[in-house]
Amino acid sequence: MISRNPCIANIKAGYLFPEIARRRREFTASHPETSRPECRIISLGVGNTTEPILPHIDAGLVDGARQLATPEGYSGYQDEGLPALREKISEVFYRKGFGPDEIFISDGAKCDIGRLQLLFGSKIPVAVQDPSYPVYVDGSVLIGAAGAWEGTGYRGISYLPCNAENGYFPDLSALPRDGICYFCSPNNPTGATADREQLDALVKAAGEKGALIIFDAAYMGYIRDPALPKSIFEIAGARECAIEVNSFSKPAGFTGVRLGWTVVPKELKYSGGESVNADWARVSGTIFNGASNIAQAGALAALDGEGVREMRELCDFYLGNAALIRGALEKRGIPCVGGDNSPYIWARFPGRDSWDVFNQILEKCYVVTTPGSGFGPAGESFIRFSSFGHRADVEEACERLSRL
Ligand code: PLP
Repeated sequence: MISRNPCIANIKAGYLFPEIARRRREFTASHPETSRPECRIISLGVGNTTEPILPHIDAGLVDGARQLATPEGYSGYQDEGLPALREKISEVFYRKGFGPDEIFISDGAKCDIGRLQLLFGSKIPVAVQDPSYPVYVDGSVLIGAAGAWEGTGYRGISYLPCNAENGYFPDLSALPRDGICYFCSPNNPTGATADREQLDALVKAAGEKGALIIFDAAYMGYIRDPALPKSIFEIAGARECAIEVNSFSKPAGFTGVRLGWTVVPKELKYSGGESVNADWARVSGTIFNGASNIAQAGALAALDGEGVREMRELCDFYLGNAALIRGALEKRGIPCVGGDNSPYIWARFPGRDSWDVFNQILEKCYVVTTPGSGFGPAGESFIRFSSFGHRADVEEACERLSRL
């Protein structure tokens, strides 16, 4: 019989959201009143978008599909992505700072995060912000870089705590030498956004430790404070030590359409002097045949003047939800971060178990949230509130939060 990849047995992924769904099902079954509109369960728990794609971007998608039915407009494989889209991404997000061969179009940031570790193999140390978006750890487990599970974390992963005491920015002296460091800003789940000084320190520490930063900027479209950097490449020295993954999911509502991009600068080299960019082109061409042409047509529409305006409008809508949620929590005296330059609010319940607080909010408010401990050991005693929801549901949920 074929033997199983031992890394799969080692993976703890897939626990958090199924467990939330199980608790929600059990609660619904034992509380028949949840079938009444005023008691229906409202979710502020997931990072999935809820609002329709706006008309100009939608017209780009429709037109992209129509083109495929014409002899002049038909296209097949696009490998690293439409050259026009790669150029447009460089213009809109990076002030034309990258050539099209440094921008790789993907079927989403998560997919590229999963593939990127193929570049580095199973022997390199991995550091993550703690708490963090689960795929950084789970991708490391799948490639064999995470080591064994011990209590609350994997032995091979350096968890860099981000908590109220350090302003949700890690102690960089704990960064392992010659490894990779995942860094997400605006952060999922904490909602904290690193400032210029902090990212300067991150790039400097990576340079000193020979580390490579995989910077996840999937929520850059939510930054409203003009002083905050949106990309790691706004920081001097980042081209020599960072890769940036990005996405149209959260600014354009493309969670189901699927489209993202990854920037791999030509300056980035391995310890032996080889080009990381050339290897990423090779890996992408070997196991990925490019993103949907229809999705790329939609992205081109998202990046012209009207599309950029629509993306801002959509992010502003979710930020409006976030302000309502944060306001409702702070009214109850619950300390929070995030929600101002990010769609997530990270609420603190000192001394409490995250799952107990989750249960309490479900029982008292009929609102589903995400327990912070599911994102890493430092998430204990926190709850993540997501602003992805319809406005009427968010308003109703906020009213119910007054019962806390
Ligand atoms: N990165 C972060 C931090 C996320 O929270 C998410 C989705 O929730 C993603 C990446 C996934 O992006 P995509 O839909 O492009 O795969």
